[in-house]
Amino acid sequence: MPDQTPPAKLSPQPYRGRFAPSPSGPLHFGSLIAATGSYLQAKSQQGEWLIRIDDVDPPREVAGASDAILTTLEHFGFEWDGPVSFQSQRNDIYRDALNTLQRKGYIYPCACSRKQIAEAQTSSTTNAIYPGTCRNGLTQNQSIHTLRMNTQGAIIQFNDLLQGNCQYNLGTEIGDYIVLRAGGLFAYQLATGVDDALQGITEVVRGNDLLDSTPCQMLIQQHLGLDTAVYCHLPVVINDQGQKLSKRNQAPTLIDKQASVQILQALVFLGQNPPIVLKQESVSNIWQWAIANWQYAKITRQQTIPYQNIAQLKNQNYF
Ligand code: GLU
Repeated sequence: MPDQTPPAKLSPQPYRGRFAPSPSGPLHFGSLIAATGSYLQAKSQQGEWLIRIDDVDPPREVAGASDAILTTLEHFGFEWDGPVSFQSQRNDIYRDALNTLQRKGYIYPCACSRKQIAEAQTSSTTNAIYPGTCRNGLTQNQSIHTLRMNTQGAIIQFNDLLQGNCQYNLGTEIGDYIVLRAGGLFAYQLATGVDDALQGITEVVRGNDLLDSTPCQMLIQQHLGLDTAVYCHLPVVINDQGQKLSKRNQAPTLIDKQASVQILQALVFLGQNPPIVLKQESVSNIWQWAIANWQYAKITRQQTIPYQNIAQLKNQNYF
């Protein structure tokens, strides 16, 4: 007699998101967008939201920035789950991942300096794709500068929640990217690809300036046999000169006393139309409204939004 028991249902994986700032300076309005988008995606689905400090780049780290970032997040009323993780404490994990990639033959040592690569670029290859000089091995007297991923023939496809269907031929569009930097520093692509998978992140919400990093991180996950999250790349805030707001170009800083207004500005930026009366409310009431009313589908599909649009609302006394 055939077994009548229905097949056991796999319970859906609980949502887990993350915000992963680099401690290269204080948070600014651009970072608030990524924090707000990832927070609301997680909280509106009763998910977890983790904080990971991406401190794999000591030369770019600013003393005290990690603490300042966490204090700002607290003042802005973000509530994260579990202890904050630090990439600088996960070197053994990245080392293991590199060893596996090396053993499986996916990465190779490269002896080229930046200068040599720039010189090797011909006018027809101005888009800074590494020309593959060391892909077939080094000679005995060459010393290893970096380790690179061999991207030849790698096709990566994903369906971004906002950017739609994205497909990359990594070999021709991205090139053999660095996984271990000169000086033995783990590269962002490696650390982030490994962490997102091992930390069980189910959805990565971040600025679309990182869209081209996604296939690099996915390829690492595929080669290591790890799961890949869903991706959602948000529009990026730009200044009057059309540059992405960053710590280096005087992005408006986050001011604790203006937390309510700045969160409302972020909600406007993300297309959520918060009612104007909320500007009188506490940060926690604003979050309550935002979580209950969050709809990622209202976010514009534009790649960039000028900060000027937000500033104009300020002039019109919206804020
Ligand atoms: N640490 C990166 C940054 O601050 C973000 C990394 C990510 O979200 O993948 O730009």
